[in-house]
Amino acid sequence: MTRAVVAVAILLTAVPAAAQRLPDTVVPEHYTLWFAPDLEKETFRGRQTIQAVVTQRTSSITLHAAELEFGEVRITSGGRTQTARVTLDPKAETATFTVPAPLAEGPVSIDVTYTGILNDKLRGFYISKANGRKYAVTQMEATDARRAFPSFDEPAFKATFDVSMMVDARDTAISNGRVIADTPGPEPGTHTISYARTPKMSTYLVAMIVGDFVCREGSSDGTAIRICSTPDKRDLTAFALEAAEHQLRFFNNYFGIKYPFGKLDIVAVPDFAAGAMENAGAITFRERLLLVDSERSSVNARKTVAGIISHEIAHQWFGNLVTMKWWDDIWLNEGFASWIASKPLADWRPQWQVELDDAQETQSALATDALRSTRAIRTRVETNEQINEVFDAIAYDKTSAVLRMIEAYVGAEPFRKAISSYLTRYSYSNAAGEDFWTEVARVTGRPVDRIMKSYVEQPGAPVLAIANRCVGGSSEISVTQSRFLSSPGAPVPAQTWILPACFKTGGSAPRCELITAREQRATATGCDSVFANADARGYYFSEYAPEVVRSLGKSATALKPVERLSLLGDEWWMVRAGRHTIDSFLDLTAMLAADETPAIAGVIASRLTVVANNILDADERGAFERWIRDRFGPALTALGFPGAQSDADDLQTRRATLAMLVGVIGNDPEVQRRARELAGRYIADPASLSPSLAPTVLQVAAVSGDRALYDQYVAQLGTLAAQPEEYYRFFSALSWFRDPALVKATLDLALSPSVRTQDTGTLLAGLLERPWAREATWAFVTAQWKALVDRLGVFQGIPSVVGGLGAMCSTRASADIKAFFARNPTPAVERGLLQSIERVENCAALDARQSPPLAAWLAAR
Ligand SMILES: [Zn+2]
Repeated sequence: MTRAVVAVAILLTAVPAAAQRLPDTVVPEHYTLWFAPDLEKETFRGRQTIQAVVTQRTSSITLHAAELEFGEVRITSGGRTQTARVTLDPKAETATFTVPAPLAEGPVSIDVTYTGILNDKLRGFYISKANGRKYAVTQMEATDARRAFPSFDEPAFKATFDVSMMVDARDTAISNGRVIADTPGPEPGTHTISYARTPKMSTYLVAMIVGDFVCREGSSDGTAIRICSTPDKRDLTAFALEAAEHQLRFFNNYFGIKYPFGKLDIVAVPDFAAGAMENAGAITFRERLLLVDSERSSVNARKTVAGIISHEIAHQWFGNLVTMKWWDDIWLNEGFASWIASKPLADWRPQWQVELDDAQETQSALATDALRSTRAIRTRVETNEQINEVFDAIAYDKTSAVLRMIEAYVGAEPFRKAISSYLTRYSYSNAAGEDFWTEVARVTGRPVDRIMKSYVEQPGAPVLAIANRCVGGSSEISVTQSRFLSSPGAPVPAQTWILPACFKTGGSAPRCELITAREQRATATGCDSVFANADARGYYFSEYAPEVVRSLGKSATALKPVERLSLLGDEWWMVRAGRHTIDSFLDLTAMLAADETPAIAGVIASRLTVVANNILDADERGAFERWIRDRFGPALTALGFPGAQSDADDLQTRRATLAMLVGVIGNDPEVQRRARELAGRYIADPASLSPSLAPTVLQVAAVSGDRALYDQYVAQLGTLAAQPEEYYRFFSALSWFRDPALVKATLDLALSPSVRTQDTGTLLAGLLERPWAREATWAFVTAQWKALVDRLGVFQGIPSVVGGLGAMCSTRASADIKAFFARNPTPAVERGLLQSIERVENCAALDARQSPPLAAWLAAR
């Protein structure tokens, strides 16, 4: 086992990173771009002029180009025009233009005609299909603008862009700037749309979106905002518009810099690889993440939609106005947008309690950071594969969590001022991590630079081991920090962090200390058990003695909901790391079983699912299921199932979680029967169930559902194409059917034309989550690997599948996965694969270690 892991680890460092960075001897300043997409033939023609500056006399210019065919290339410099010879390097994705007479230093103009393909891999300039029509859409980030136009396709080469497009007379087209002209022709059956010049920006933010889109119009602070979709979904754009209008105003105020891109279009496209993309002034979205019914949608759907819109609008400042110099600092984009996304939501819908979602985001970052194969926030990247792989939980969730900690440390308003100052200083330009933390330290006068450096440059997260004694009515706390690893017995690298930690006892006010040493002392008022992450804003694990956990659990009402969430997370990880046995965690869940915070019930349910799926032995299943029903059944009965439609969102969400817990983990036949009945009623009349309860009802019903029910779900997919939220309720529920024949039916569906390629990866990852479908899904993935890679491309779908493999839980599974990928090397998912293998091995170790204490704990019930 050890040897195989080492062998894989060597792979990670041994792959030669082909440096593809362009020289800076030619620097672009302005692009004039013309496109004529042909949706029928799935091709396009392009014509462009790049105005650039030669900084060093040269007779060749190298820029990026991929899957483009060049016509004529002419270069004008010093009043002389020369025709260039074009040399392509498909591997490096570059084109080199060479002219007979060298180009002197100074301005140069590059004219290019070329053609390209509208590919089906959802990257670059690609084809999308819906309602019997075709659409052409772009997704440039990270390294695919070069598939749409020859370009200096690196984030630091910022330039301005004039875009125009000649499209079918029946289609419209959206780009970054507002429309400044729309004239018929020049070719028959077409019109040509020209867009206002963009501000200076990176190539990965250019957007072209072509098809029969319709838009709902609004505005905010004088900026025109439109939410656009295919015509059949226009009724689902009102909620997004309301959210976007509020958020734009919020960010204008927060940053103290007016929205910099003129107008804002937000477009739902039928096929989309990512969740959404922040193209300057022309944001693109996966349909299900933008389009919801204002009246009949679940609170989760509304929160998700509002949260992602907020993330993408925030990017217009963080990322688009100020951009990282290179992709190793992608956290400057993604972490900031993730961190700030909840701010306008808290202002707009305080009842959503987004601080609980933030606390869960911190937990999910810690879950990745507990792995040996995690990475530092800033990681060196050179190849396209490496660049694409750093858009991960570390860039998004960990950075976001670290920023939350720093904001709490320096204070919200000083932090806001520092951010505004940083954005002003680097507007229309690029910055590195150091530029950010130096500015925040300068403006706030606090050692933010030291804290951030310790968090950005080293991998993993600290665990603070807490012990305290009572001295004269106060707690004297000793804090020992070390790196936390979830694999029991793994060698711990010597690392220390500089971090603010906040302690509280009972109901006392928190006291915060800057922890700088491996061992340090702190104090807190009062002598009750010390809780070491007040407000749950710290990015670290806390380790308490088991009796302290018990005492904190007993007086849990003295903790805020976010703190209880954090306590549950800490205790879970202590069990996973073999520092505590599972009974302390189970006792804690029992103490919190009646907690009315839906997020607490959600965390308990997901952890107990892991216990049931991976640790529990067959002969103890009956006892465990009984315990679940006894412990959580009464709360469900009290709430009623389905209860009243008019119940508040919070109550519906908690009810759904309890139904899942009792119905699936508790295997309660009555709850399952009730769910099947409700599912049948819901299919006949979608208004019969609360939208927040419906997804769970469909899943619980599926667990004991037969072929007839399955066929009903599949039939729904055919009729719900125009209602994404409802479509995905049924789609996501397919993986919950336990019958092996139905698992096989879902696997066959995954690669069939009736499932969009954007959804294949998530469907397979869902199946890998279910213990009853894991083996069959793994067999399917290995048998169909080539077909999967061909259909999806390695950058979309495949990362989800490889991530999903991490849900398996045996030493045999980890050996199988390693052997398979040794035969099928896939550089685009190298780190993801290492992390999945480590997760599988950790889970197998967890099973081996915690099975006996689990059995003993159950026997004592
Ligand atoms: Zn983002």
